[in-house]
Amino acid sequence: MTVSVVLFTCDLRLHDHPPLHTALERSREVVPLFVRDRAVDAAGFAAPNRLAFLADCLADLDAGLRERGGRLVLRSGNLADEVGKVVTETGAQEVHLAADHSAHARRREEQLGALLQTLGCRLTVHDTVNTVVAPGTVTPASSDHFAVFTPYHRHWAQQPMRTPLSAPRTVRVPEGVGSEPLPVRGYITGVSPALAAGGEWPAREQLSAWLRSGLGEYEDGHDDLGGDRTSRLSPHLHFGTLSPVECVQRALRKGGAGAEAFVRQLAWRDFHRQVLAARPDAAKRNYRSQHDRWRTSVSARRDFEAWQEGRTGYPVIDAAMRQLRHEGWMHNRGRLLTASFLTKTLYVDWRVGAEYFLSLLVDGDVANNQLNWQWMAGTGTDSRPNRVLNPVTQAKRYDPDGVYTRRWVPELADVAAPFVHEPWKLQGLERAAIDDYPDPIVDLADGLARFKRARAGRDDAPRPALGPRSCSEPAICEVP
Ligand SMILES: Cc1cc2nc3c(=O)[nH]c(=O)nc-3n(C[C@H](O)[C@H](O)[C@H](O)COP(=O)(O)OP(=O)(O)OC[C@H]3O[C@@H](n4cnc5c(N)ncnc54)[C@H](O)[C@@H]3O)c2cc1C
Repeated sequence: MTVSVVLFTCDLRLHDHPPLHTALERSREVVPLFVRDRAVDAAGFAAPNRLAFLADCLADLDAGLRERGGRLVLRSGNLADEVGKVVTETGAQEVHLAADHSAHARRREEQLGALLQTLGCRLTVHDTVNTVVAPGTVTPASSDHFAVFTPYHRHWAQQPMRTPLSAPRTVRVPEGVGSEPLPVRGYITGVSPALAAGGEWPAREQLSAWLRSGLGEYEDGHDDLGGDRTSRLSPHLHFGTLSPVECVQRALRKGGAGAEAFVRQLAWRDFHRQVLAARPDAAKRNYRSQHDRWRTSVSARRDFEAWQEGRTGYPVIDAAMRQLRHEGWMHNRGRLLTASFLTKTLYVDWRVGAEYFLSLLVDGDVANNQLNWQWMAGTGTDSRPNRVLNPVTQAKRYDPDGVYTRRWVPELADVAAPFVHEPWKLQGLERAAIDDYPDPIVDLADGLARFKRARAGRDDAPRPALGPRSCSEPAICEVP
């Protein structure tokens, strides 16, 4: 075997990279290729924050390859066609690719496999590059995937794990393979002002720092909004500048309750992927219908816009939405609260919120985003689909001193806790001092009552035929 192509997608690293490792074992020369896939742009998935982060990742991958005597080859167009061209130009006999599980990734893989067959070139798809346990490896007796996280996690934790691979020492790229210039972050417009830097080098630094000084506190601190005590590794896991297998193994070596809690969160990534692999339509359709007739009126549009802009009058919701715009990232507790608020308190379709998140999130990922939205909307895998998170009591619990809220809502910078979470309760001059901050767009009790009516199927509007309701479905409850 003389030449192989390694097609990088969401696995932009040199450490623990099974496709690259195998290609280097089998071939004298390797073409490390990234294709800027036009179908991703056409689907509207190429949001500025992710494009900017991607530019960093590609530059860093190229630099890492150059240190080893190689370089990254970049092409743009239809992914299968571009890979086919490189195969023809170099006479490559193999293409190596990391497995991916969205509907788009599968179509792409099928097209590529068919084209390569006509060229007499073999496609090898590698599992456990971007997951710890590949979808379909563990399944319940009666289904092709787990619909509940806890039993999935039990099986997941018992799976044997491969040993992480080291980065290659040298990479030889055949001469004369043309490449387009790499994108430059600075030329991309519409990027959030405080977007994190991408690339394997910063990712590895961040992982080491996290394992050293964040992991131990993770179990107690992961919901502390103001303390910002989660790993913030999600963009690196999304772009594959970190290997999830390596993250799990290094965390487990540290040990302790923090490591266990962190590894459990990493299992959620795999859980959502195995759901999406089995039900690719869950990216767009309800995983479990609740027969919702989401609000679509002009007032619903106004509510959605207030939510987007961080002007709902509920400070913790507004803080989280402003963090999203400013950083292209949001704390998990903020994601839960804003998603509950939109889908349950405002009763707006989860797809509208998910799309907005995807337009900004640097870690925006079809499996994690869509299925977490469905989880919170109660149309997904949550076993308590009607839980509603109360933004006031949750803010008092997870941001007791108002640090997070004041950081992102400067109008309330001088308001002391607990009023910072209920500024409408202020009186007189204190109230007048915050007159640039909006009043609540909805009364929480009214929002809850509307949701209860809707989910109970007692909406005034005519409804489509309702399916049978499970008698074990929990009652609608507001989670304090
Ligand atoms: C409405 C909503 C939308 C979301 N959209 C995304 C998304 O597009 N991309 C994304 O990566 N995560 C998404 N999440 C999950 C979670 O909020 C983020 O992974 C987490 O906030 C990232 O911060 P961190 O890296 O500091 O996480 P940590 O708390 O440090 O967790 C470590 C890693 O575990 C994984 N993880 C943690 N929580 C979850 C979860 N609930 N589901 C899946 N994986 C998880 C992530 O890869 C994360 O980096 C979403 C959650 C909600 C409620």
